Amino acid sequence: MAGMAETSRPRGGDHGTDRTDRTRARRKAQQGRGTAVPAADPADARLEHARDGKLKLNRPKRGLIDETEAQQIAEDRARLQQQGIGGPLDGRMLSNPAATDGGRPQVRPQAEGWKQQTTDDGRPLLQFKQPRVAQPKTHLADLTLAERQAKVAELGFPAFRAKQLSNHYFNHFTSDPDRMTDLPKGAREKLVTELMPPLLTEVRRLTTDNGDTIKFLWRLFDGALVESVLMRYPGRVTLCVSSQAGCGMNCPFCATGQNGLTRNMSTAEIVEQVVRANEVIAEGALGGLRKDGGHNAERVTNIVFMGMGEPLANYKRVIASVRRMVDPAPEGLGMSARHITVSTVGLVPAINRLAEEGIPVTFALSLHAPDDELRDELIPVNSRWKADEAIDAAYNYFVKTGRRVSIEYALIKDMNDHAWRADLLGQKLNARGRGWVHVNPIPLNPTPGSIWTSSEPDVTDEFINRLEAAGIPTTLRDTRGKEIDGACGQLAAEGDEDEGAEGDVTPSDRRPGASSASIDLRA
Ligand code: SAH
Repeated sequence: MAGMAETSRPRGGDHGTDRTDRTRARRKAQQGRGTAVPAADPADARLEHARDGKLKLNRPKRGLIDETEAQQIAEDRARLQQQGIGGPLDGRMLSNPAATDGGRPQVRPQAEGWKQQTTDDGRPLLQFKQPRVAQPKTHLADLTLAERQAKVAELGFPAFRAKQLSNHYFNHFTSDPDRMTDLPKGAREKLVTELMPPLLTEVRRLTTDNGDTIKFLWRLFDGALVESVLMRYPGRVTLCVSSQAGCGMNCPFCATGQNGLTRNMSTAEIVEQVVRANEVIAEGALGGLRKDGGHNAERVTNIVFMGMGEPLANYKRVIASVRRMVDPAPEGLGMSARHITVSTVGLVPAINRLAEEGIPVTFALSLHAPDDELRDELIPVNSRWKADEAIDAAYNYFVKTGRRVSIEYALIKDMNDHAWRADLLGQKLNARGRGWVHVNPIPLNPTPGSIWTSSEPDVTDEFINRLEAAGIPTTLRDTRGKEIDGACGQLAAEGDEDEGAEGDVTPSDRRPGASSASIDLRA
């Protein structure tokens, strides 16, 4: 969901890693004010190793988790189940919430105002295969510098032209041959045509938050629509990028999922969102930036893969785009991997693969419910990988990379915001270790036609307090750009309505549900 990315409590926190917040959480836990925190001895011991620097992070391993890891996780899980966490008791809690939460109702996830795509036997459809496979023409951002040099040589130009072209793109954010004055005139057109095909056409640009937030709607070469959101914060500029046109994960609260998956975006299409945002910043369109490149950056410093799509379902291209973002200029954008957040609905094998990639990106898991009974309905892919498996994979990401992970939790009124769920979440996280995770609750950004709303402030506070009392650093995130359809996918869903005759996209273009390429993993 574009527009959601940063903290509102405490102010100025970065991705929920605000120090005061952590310290407060730790102090509370030390004071013993926490709710039942299982003594997670073995996991804690592993963590101490990490602090001592003895744990070998990033060690090359094949497969998912090694045997010791798997055994450890199995033991942790068995202990949890003894305590009634995970397994059948989760269900009892959901079926009888009054027993655990002062009689607050349990609203079940249900599509309102639109129809969730289902399989013939009525289960939510999951699409891992893209109905459309055509990709745009190869762009230099799809290639490594060496590959660009080979391509340039193939076209009959000296290989160093590749560096010059790359410099224009990644340092000056331009694909305009007229501005490439260091290249011979005759070469420019040819090189640009061959290596810089147009990727994103701007359809709409909406600005809000006093000019600090800009939402873009882009049309891809085949008419598919995607969004990105640019957000200025003190000391950093964040871009929320899309990785797929549409999304096949079918989460009932998410605007993007409502139209299904159209296709994977190419590596260059993903990267171009950043380059275009940098161009817009350079033009002065994002408010309040210092021109001398001081504390307030003049280019995008942080990326969140929280726009349209499931990044790990487009794994190879997303990883290639991350490499391009972190490659030093002119090969890439020279950004810091730590400032890039990859968010997933919980595709476990892909999370484990990401942990072995050797790029220290920040990892975020969209959990939204700690118990399978609710998560099965809220996050359809939970039919394939259960909440505990997703949390295990997130924990494994921490073990392998040493990078603290984020748990995303959209707070939905009377659906997933019960105090017992905060306790259950805290217990499940602590059972695997301490200091490896923080939680980012996000007030739900209701999609059009939905009767779901975000949690009441006192319920939100209680949820956060319970997690903090359990020693889990927790930071409420703000939703940016609500008035510009902040929930990602809303703009794309409406995009063609305003385009009139010019629009070449019909709603059916983005409703691939009938495609034979769609698969139901539960089958
Ligand atoms: N598919 C990926 C990334 C895209 S969505 C994922 O699921 O993580 C980015 C985040 O926004 C996810 O945590 C997603 O669950 C959340 N989200 C989607 N729709 C939302 C809404 N209407 N309100 C609040 N959060 C939402």
